[in-house]
Amino acid sequence: MHMKIVLENLTKIFPSRNKKSGEEVVAVNNFNFTIPDGKLIGLLGPSGCGKSTTLYMISGLQKPSSGKIFFGEDDVTELSTESRGIGLVFQNYALYPHMTVLQNILFPLQNLRGKDKMSKEAMLERAHEAAKLVQIDELMDRKPSELSGGQQQRVAIARALVKMPRVLLLDEPLSNLDARLRLQTREEIRRIQKETGITTVFVTHDQEEAMSISDMIVVMKLGVVQQIGKPQEVYDNPENLFVAKFLGTPPINVFNGVVRGEKLYIGDADVLSVPGINDQEVYVGIRPEGFILDPDGALACKLSNVEVMGRDVSVVSTHEASANPIIRSIIDADNVINTAAETVRFSLKPHKVFLFSKADENRIRFEVK
Ligand code: ADP
Ligand code: MG
Repeated sequence: MHMKIVLENLTKIFPSRNKKSGEEVVAVNNFNFTIPDGKLIGLLGPSGCGKSTTLYMISGLQKPSSGKIFFGEDDVTELSTESRGIGLVFQNYALYPHMTVLQNILFPLQNLRGKDKMSKEAMLERAHEAAKLVQIDELMDRKPSELSGGQQQRVAIARALVKMPRVLLLDEPLSNLDARLRLQTREEIRRIQKETGITTVFVTHDQEEAMSISDMIVVMKLGVVQQIGKPQEVYDNPENLFVAKFLGTPPINVFNGVVRGEKLYIGDADVLSVPGINDQEVYVGIRPEGFILDPDGALACKLSNVEVMGRDVSVVSTHEASANPIIRSIIDADNVINTAAETVRFSLKPHKVFLFSKADENRIRFEVK
């Protein structure tokens, strides 16, 4: 019943709004990906990168400029939204305010015609099943205005699930919820997705959200897919500087570095051996957890602040070669650190250090011994 989704050279170009001077917008540029059957995919990137446009093309709300979409083996590119068998959930729950929760959930079923038409009893049973799945079966007689934001979004999810869609599409579904509810609801969405096994595309600009619930993430920038993979794989192995910077809290630290004689220098300090890399200037990305407090460490930073956060200690420092105003390193709370010292010295974990080309910001890989 559920199925893979194939996106083939999917492209969407919007004409310029201003006929004279404006340029057309390539909102989605040649997107190729097979979304595996039964998986939850996080479509991730900054605002305006083409996430919603991609989702709208999968849903049929927008027509691709070129390229194809398949659900399983079926080419659905020309199909209407109604005949695709999808469930859609938006950021603003878009419930009917004058209807009760039950009526809202029933609505998609009441619109079925022809061979799909259901009996009243069957519809009610289906609505109650969907409500139970999202745990709002106690609230069936309420109006949307009598529900919290989180409950309203659950109703929207139940309404999307009630037709037993082949594909579930969610566009920033948690953005209107407060922080606590956002955490809770994202776990709920994950549970529901696992229970139903529906192939799901989850759009968000929040990297932590995408990383925490997705089987795979797709990172986009300016309409172009940057990297696709399991969240941890993409975090551990970013293809370019953009992806490295977009994933991770606290974010990756970036330095201006130089490779000379297969050694990596930050300022004057020889911080790492990088076999096989030609002499050149590079960007050096170091994950916050990639620093080791080490009195003999090559990298000497000016200590600004130490923040103890329970399990971890966050060391804030500065360095001339840092591309950011501060360097944030996360070290184990067992470490004793002299907060009065002017300088803090680090050695580096090689697998947490990434080099990027200054020319195109792509990763330059070296062998980690
Ligand atoms: P996201 O969901 O990642 O924030 P969108 O898919 O909404 O991004 O938008 C991608 C790009 O396409 C943006 O530059 C946006 O301004 C443009 N865009 C989206 N919809 C339209 C439209 N209907 N007409 C013209 N440009 C659009
Ligand atoms: Mg959007």
